[in-house]
Amino acid sequence: MEIKLASSYGFCFGVKRAIEIAEAHKGAVTYGPLIHNKDEINRLKNGYNIGLVEKLDELKKKDTVVIRTHGIPKNELEVLKQQEHKIIDATCPYVTTPQNIVEKMSSEGYSVVIFGDKSHPEIKGVVSYAKDEKNAFIVLEPNELKKLPLKSKVAVVSQTTKKPEDFAKIVTSLMGTHKEIRVFNTICNATFENQDSASSLAKEADIMIVIGGKHSSNTKQLHSICERDCVNSYLIENEQELDKNWFFHKKLCGISAGASTPDWIVQNVIKKIEEYQ
Ligand code: SF4
Repeated sequence: MEIKLASSYGFCFGVKRAIEIAEAHKGAVTYGPLIHNKDEINRLKNGYNIGLVEKLDELKKKDTVVIRTHGIPKNELEVLKQQEHKIIDATCPYVTTPQNIVEKMSSEGYSVVIFGDKSHPEIKGVVSYAKDEKNAFIVLEPNELKKLPLKSKVAVVSQTTKKPEDFAKIVTSLMGTHKEIRVFNTICNATFENQDSASSLAKEADIMIVIGGKHSSNTKQLHSICERDCVNSYLIENEQELDKNWFFHKKLCGISAGASTPDWIVQNVIKKIEEYQ
């Protein structure tokens, strides 16, 4: 069986940058997981003594706090500043962009539509930048737009990891009801590149292995794209989740990995699959 890696996979610019920032601040703590990959978080803990707190009141005085790639709500950032922690901001610049757009457009009197998952940390952060949170709306489907009390001018942004075609459906639906729409395509390139190359590989593969955190929206999306083109698509966090039986009678095994997946995990997976041959 041939094993082929997608031409673009794994760590994106924002995650590489956040890890380098954390490695440069040994002994710091991250507020919320730095990235969606628990194996990499363990590596940072063991090699660089990087701690993790989930609640603001778990922080100790003088802690150096690293802000995760997908940002935190504005009010929490303000609390951190008041508590006089040393703050190291590892928020990805592609996430800071929609935060700034939401802040600016809502101050200019636009209703803000955010295409994304309400429960995703990035979206909780982005919506918190609206001047008036009652005038900022998070939606996943075009039919949710109908019941919203939108003003005549609307600005729309997307969660960075969403599919462009789904974002386009939201925009098209708004065009049917509103004359003034400001569209900001805040989907990041890393997502496009990994998705496009996973999709073309899935078309030729008999089996696709997508490696990444099960809570990573980016990885789940990669997996759903692969499933569209290859019925035997599996999402795993690491090599321990592989099952030898998946590979019987398969000729080409494609591999892709989410934007928070370190290369050492990808290599471990390849090594284990090679042992099945
Ligand atoms: S997926 Fe995109 S937005 Fe998210 S951390 Fe990576 S580069 Fe930044």
